[in-house]
Amino acid sequence: MPGPRAFQPRPGQPDHPQVTVLAGPTAVGKGTVSTYIGDHYANVWLSVSATTRAPRPGEVHGKHYFFVTTKEFQDLIEAGTMLEWAVVHGKNMYGTRKDTVDEALRSGQHVLLEIDLQGARQIRQTMPEAQFVFLAPPSWDELVHRLTGRGTESPEEQQRRLETAKLELAAEPEFDAVVVNDTIEQAAAELVTLMGLDPGKQKPRACGDTPVTRVGQDPTS
Ligand code: 5GP
Repeated sequence: MPGPRAFQPRPGQPDHPQVTVLAGPTAVGKGTVSTYIGDHYANVWLSVSATTRAPRPGEVHGKHYFFVTTKEFQDLIEAGTMLEWAVVHGKNMYGTRKDTVDEALRSGQHVLLEIDLQGARQIRQTMPEAQFVFLAPPSWDELVHRLTGRGTESPEEQQRRLETAKLELAAEPEFDAVVVNDTIEQAAAELVTLMGLDPGKQKPRACGDTPVTRVGQDPTS
């Protein structure tokens, strides 16, 4: 498995990636790693997705997701608002708004999109200059352990997510780089290196500043 390395642009890509797409199987820890980066690194903008999934305890509208109805989500699609969207795990709709991403790019921030494989494939088509990073588990057994251990899904939902995870793991070769999520800090440092940031330069925390870590969400989600 490749470790952190300097960003190597594909033909047509800028020297530094402005948009990094982080995908990987369910329960690998995409949310935790991206939230850690948002909490610890300046100049990184984490996209807040829209979803038709119900909020988990502690999740806040506008911070963790924009929780919308199916009708509202369909209206967003019809209005051409979505950069990408997908039905994930055969159940709920999730998507990224284009206007918010454009605004973050205009303000000079590094954009980090934590999305599923279907969404990553759509962005590969519409934004080929983006960088695509696959977050992999240390092993299949560890992935099963993380998913079943977090207890946020029913056994049926766990089974559905593990089936999706097998397909997602097979897509690893489609990505520009792979980061193995052994620990949150190590995976975050490797990812920010790929984003062209210095992993040693974490942002100073102001007094009373509360990390935006996703409450109600297991560290491995
Ligand atoms: P969860 O329900 O556990 O928060 O997320 C389920 C899956 O949806 C995760 O794999 C997550 O990466 C994916 N996801 C979250 N936001 C988006 C999005 O905006 N677009 C797409 N395509 N997938 C998303």
